[in-house]
Amino acid sequence: MTFEDFHFDTKLQDGLSSMGYEKPTPIQEQAIPLILEKHDLIACAQTGTGKTAAYLLPILNNIIHSDHRHLNTLIIAPTRELVQQIDQQVEGFAYFTGVSSIPIYGGGDGATWDQQKKALEAGVDMIIATPGRLIAQLASGVIDLKYVQHLVLDEADRMLDMGFHDDIMRIIKNLPEHKQTLFFSATMPPRIRSLANKILRHPKEVNISISKPAEGILQEAYLVRDEQKEKLIMHLLKETSYSSVLIFASTKDNVKHLARLLPKLGLPSKAIHSDLEQNEREEILREFKNKQLRFLIGTDVLSRGIDVDGIGLVINYDVPPDPEDYIHRIGRTARAESTGHAITFINERDQRRFYQIEKLMEREVTKMPLPEGIGPSFEYQPEGHRHGGGKGARPTSGGKRKFFKRRSPR
Ligand code: AMP
Repeated sequence: MTFEDFHFDTKLQDGLSSMGYEKPTPIQEQAIPLILEKHDLIACAQTGTGKTAAYLLPILNNIIHSDHRHLNTLIIAPTRELVQQIDQQVEGFAYFTGVSSIPIYGGGDGATWDQQKKALEAGVDMIIATPGRLIAQLASGVIDLKYVQHLVLDEADRMLDMGFHDDIMRIIKNLPEHKQTLFFSATMPPRIRSLANKILRHPKEVNISISKPAEGILQEAYLVRDEQKEKLIMHLLKETSYSSVLIFASTKDNVKHLARLLPKLGLPSKAIHSDLEQNEREEILREFKNKQLRFLIGTDVLSRGIDVDGIGLVINYDVPPDPEDYIHRIGRTARAESTGHAITFINERDQRRFYQIEKLMEREVTKMPLPEGIGPSFEYQPEGHRHGGGKGARPTSGGKRKFFKRRSPR
């Protein structure tokens, strides 16, 4: 399945492509058609599954065709950080669409409040807000919720944990009866279900259970800059005693580069990528399975298909774009044996993405000090380095907007 199958407006499809999104994640595959059909939805999915795009894309597709006269969509999320992350994704997806949005969260100064108020007065299609600050802005009378068509509650379980139940109910009272409500939560204990039952009408359900890597895999990571990666991989491969080692890189260019580099250092290796004929790929795989070839390098194509026993070590030359790919990649080790070893290289840009993987696995991966001679590492700051997600460059708005964007005030 590809995003083309949803037949989104081309302006939205352009935004998706420029953000490097190619293939929908499982939650997107399941939720998007239901949302497009206007069902209420209760979705059990954690951060890292692609849940944000799962609700944003069909909603944005709907807003493109609206008359933009009223506030169309309200998204409520527990924290300022999450509101900012959702807003960043909207900014990327909606870049070519003319849809406007505004994040509303507390913690700023009086100027922030005034800016939010001004943008609200000018009118927007979508508000992404924390419950407390939204209630405060509602009281100031600049937000008209009467025409809202979509309500999204994101991380509902966390909002209840943070004591936002009454605030949420107050906000919902201000919304029209007829609207589509999308309810996302990482967990579904009874109190969450009872909240969902109260506010949803004949909801469809989507449940994404996350695969977890086998316990027996020793997972380690290095915080390493791109220019240090070659030295590090050479060091690790020279030291290793494993007889079969699988190396993953996200781009074909990196795969080819490594396949040229490693043999020069006396490390017998070959690469599998989409430029090879099927029979060439099979031949390389056969050599690897028969232990004639010690090092195999490939893109994620390899992570799902390959079924080779006795791979001792998996090296991720970069952090895979999709957390599920990480699980698949490292799952190539520790198959027949009960133990395995997975090492991931994290550059500064990929920190946040790796943090999502850790969150998904509910497990922190040990960050190893760089071996001598590689140069200095950096401190792990997953929350401090944000990126737009996806594989490619995302469009930027030229840094001009703060609270209002992409469409002149009406
Ligand atoms: P979320 O679960 O919504 O927090 O998304 C986790 C990360 O995955 C974000 O950085 C997204 O930008 C990214 N992402 C979501 N869906 C896709 C996709 N279909 N292709 C590539 N990246 C994605």
